[in-house]
Amino acid sequence: MSLKLIERLAINKNRRDKVLISACLLGESCRYDGKSKKVEGIEKLLNYFDLIPICPEVMGGLKTPRDPSEIKGLMVITKKGKNVTEEYNNGAYLASTIAHIKHVKLAVLKENSPSCGVYKIHDGSFTNKLISGEGITTKRLKKENIPVINEEEALELLKELQDENI
Ligand code: SF4
Repeated sequence: MSLKLIERLAINKNRRDKVLISACLLGESCRYDGKSKKVEGIEKLLNYFDLIPICPEVMGGLKTPRDPSEIKGLMVITKKGKNVTEEYNNGAYLASTIAHIKHVKLAVLKENSPSCGVYKIHDGSFTNKLISGEGITTKRLKKENIPVINEEEALELLKELQDENI
């Protein structure tokens, strides 16, 4: 039987750990298209954690709205062909700096994004195809031993925490 997320992530619900979260999941309109990707109920994580919203693409110097970008090999390229790897790396660096300064327990990042994707990213062809892979910020945080989960897992974790309180 697979471990519950609470166990896998060693969550102690008697502590208020700090958690990085993709700002667009909380309703911030910081996506490339100027919209958010709000996930209903995810803000209830606040009952258990101190949430620190981040948007690595904006932190890295990109404007909103912006051209969509995808990871292609070792680079991040916009749909118009501009190399934005540096901005993506800057955003990842700043996210990791915040994570270390604030001693965050984990990060909840938005699936499929070239910055925040946890298990899936677009394949670099701008044809809406997803492949297994990690966004630039996710990769950096994981390399630095900060666990990263996606929005679906965050809702699962929330349910586990709520069930424990019954
Ligand atoms: Fe959301 Fe991350 Fe994209 Fe910012 S970089 S809009 S937080 S998925």
